[in-house]
Amino acid sequence: MERRTFLKKAGITTAASVAALSVGAPAVIASPKKIRWQATSFWNPKVKIMYDGIKMFCENVKQMSDGQLTIKLYGGGELVPPPGAFDAVSKGTVQMGSGSPYFWAGKSTAFNWFGSVPFGMNAQSVNAWFYEGNGLTLMSELYDQFDLIPRIVGNSGVQMGGWYRKKINSLEDFKGLKMRIGSIAGKVLSKVGVTTVFVPPAEIFPSLERGVVDAAEFVGPVHDILLGLYKVAKYYYTPGWHEPGPVLDIFFNKKAYNDLPPHLQKILDVAAADINIRTLAAFDAQSGVDLNTLLKEHKVNVQVYPDDVMKKLKEISKDVVEEEAAKDPFALKVHQDYKAFQAKIAVWGKMSEKVYWNTMA
Ligand code: CA
Repeated sequence: MERRTFLKKAGITTAASVAALSVGAPAVIASPKKIRWQATSFWNPKVKIMYDGIKMFCENVKQMSDGQLTIKLYGGGELVPPPGAFDAVSKGTVQMGSGSPYFWAGKSTAFNWFGSVPFGMNAQSVNAWFYEGNGLTLMSELYDQFDLIPRIVGNSGVQMGGWYRKKINSLEDFKGLKMRIGSIAGKVLSKVGVTTVFVPPAEIFPSLERGVVDAAEFVGPVHDILLGLYKVAKYYYTPGWHEPGPVLDIFFNKKAYNDLPPHLQKILDVAAADINIRTLAAFDAQSGVDLNTLLKEHKVNVQVYPDDVMKKLKEISKDVVEEEAAKDPFALKVHQDYKAFQAKIAVWGKMSEKVYWNTMA
């Protein structure tokens, strides 16, 4: 009774305020400052999975930070043209961007190794390189040159080899073809007589239809079916040797990221890792469904590149990748690390996943 009277007199009525008083802390805790960011993506909302992942990332960050950090997401072209995302974040016009590392290869060819290289690592192996090897460290070193902090946020898995209007029976059949295929792979195919043509995604269908190109690669069943490519090219080739494990990226303006309290930085890092696995899961879940539709409803003729064609493309790719790496000292450093990691882990994949897949019906 006496104690209660004392507390009442002192104006203290709750256990919490007793605790606060006892350590000399203020009774009223100021709510943390709310931080609002803007993000600009390469992807627009029509690009399923890629855009959805970034959208989920922004929602998760808001929820995990209890609204302390909110990121307003703009799709490709809404704030800046899609390829402008990189410069906009580099300059700090917006705080976050997203796309795929090899979209920025115009800045340095080293970006290619963080996207995908012909006959390089698949999604599973490349994740091992980023998280358990030097991948993310080297990637951070490269993006730092542009005042950016990068994270990986997904992978399409092995892409498809592309749509062709005629069959590829030998390397000779590439000669004279006009094909929509980019990056280092385009340089590989140009060595076997292909003329590579840059065609934005929305123009792939009309370009194939009008014969501006004879062949085109885009992504895989999920995105190719949306473009209706099966209507204008008969043969759908596999595998996508040119893009065996293409990585998606997000990047933060370095100052904006460094200005965040550590717990918000951690939320961004963990939210990115979550989207990294979810995006690949979405591709793995949907690609088979859409491939079945292409096969059964649209009667698409899926062809595997002949063994000798693959063997020769692999040999040429090896030389082209070396040539490309030699153009830039940092690219060479990344290439050597990537190549060594791929060689180091290969035995495990060959003796486990590969053997297992070969036994599947
Ligand atoms: Ca592609």
